[in-house]
Amino acid sequence: MIDKLIILHHYLQTKLHHPIQTRQDLEVWQERRVHKHLKTVLPKSSFYHQYYQGLPIQEWRKFPIIEKQMMMEHFDRLNTVGIDKDDAYRIALASEENRDFSPQIHEVSVGLSSGTSGNRGLFLVSRQERLRWAGTILAKVLPAPLWKSQKIAFFLRANNNLYQTINSRRIQFRFFDLLDPIPLHIQRLNYYQPSILAAPPSVLRILAMALKSKELKIKPCKVISIAEVLEPLDDLFIKEQFQQTIHQVYQCTEGFLGVSCSHGTIHLNEDLVVIEKEYIDDRRFFPVITDFFRTTQPIIRYRLNDILVESSEPCTCGSIFTALEKIEGRSDDIFYLYSRFGGKFIPVFPDFLRRSILQAAAEIAEYRIIQHNPGLIEVLVKVPAEMRFVIERKIDIAMNHLFTSLECQLPQIIHTSWSPQTDFQKKLRRVERKFKFNDDQSDII
Ligand SMILES: [Zn+2]
Repeated sequence: MIDKLIILHHYLQTKLHHPIQTRQDLEVWQERRVHKHLKTVLPKSSFYHQYYQGLPIQEWRKFPIIEKQMMMEHFDRLNTVGIDKDDAYRIALASEENRDFSPQIHEVSVGLSSGTSGNRGLFLVSRQERLRWAGTILAKVLPAPLWKSQKIAFFLRANNNLYQTINSRRIQFRFFDLLDPIPLHIQRLNYYQPSILAAPPSVLRILAMALKSKELKIKPCKVISIAEVLEPLDDLFIKEQFQQTIHQVYQCTEGFLGVSCSHGTIHLNEDLVVIEKEYIDDRRFFPVITDFFRTTQPIIRYRLNDILVESSEPCTCGSIFTALEKIEGRSDDIFYLYSRFGGKFIPVFPDFLRRSILQAAAEIAEYRIIQHNPGLIEVLVKVPAEMRFVIERKIDIAMNHLFTSLECQLPQIIHTSWSPQTDFQKKLRRVERKFKFNDDQSDII
């Protein structure tokens, strides 16, 4: 009961809070929040305390940045509850294997982010943080007031106590395990009849196909894309089948960072985090986040490798929170080609690649582009068989045109036959670079 009241408190706080009207007032408010937060949290985290070498809190924007690898390396001293990394890993891995997601260490939930093995992030969330998260996400995502009944279907790679927190009499939450086969999901969805459907776009796409073939018979009032980049091609198809705007929740291990508004624009949750922008070009940036609520595993000046693209105009919904044109992908998805003038590398952003493929032919239903090395790109497209040859030539032309305009050496482009994704444990990446590229040391133009 107390838990529900706390959730309700955070729900109302998120809904009603922010009499703040201007961007300037928001920034002043954020600054105060960060100071207050750092004052309580820094003395408890010996890692951060040492890392900042006595720099005053007022100068927090000068604190050195951290990234995932560093956070994991110093996990034991960074968290404020004395949880050991090996213990946390053991618990998180065991719960993923048994598909029993309830274990905790001293009321702290442990979760693992997706990623390649060895590169998975651990996250810790206390009961208080869990309740706050539940209240905020409900406030920001629910299409109707909290007291209206909702049935949420949530597709995830792994469940977490975090998500179970929002279960109540009115709000039903059901976890759909991505390890289960699709026909089973369809059967369960037909029976459950969710009012809110949240899933990675690769799964939404398959459900949209099942709607089209009338195997799936559901009518959710809100469809939310999570966990993967929502590509324009998928967005369009899913939107058509579900006959509604597809909303996006931008959330990762590191926090609940953004959500789309009623106009379909993603806004950053600047009432929960400060997002500093590390610009790559005039509108693309890497977010550097400082969460002013998380105390168990403090997130301070933490750089994510997501490429975000700022909107060129404010959103018509009137929100003062930063509007994004899109989440473009991760820095690992940027292709690097040799410069035409030799020696140096030229970055090619995922969006350029997407556009060149989609502009090549309207018949392309799905695609993947993989860069194997600076001189080799593989393209897979799903197209009508009789048109394959012609479309592949059009793709060659479109891509070569792109690379020429960027002054890259033309790579070899190979076409292989399309095969659908079957392993939903893996994130679908339509644009993917397969070789490691160290952009700190390499010679990039
Ligand atoms: Zn908006």
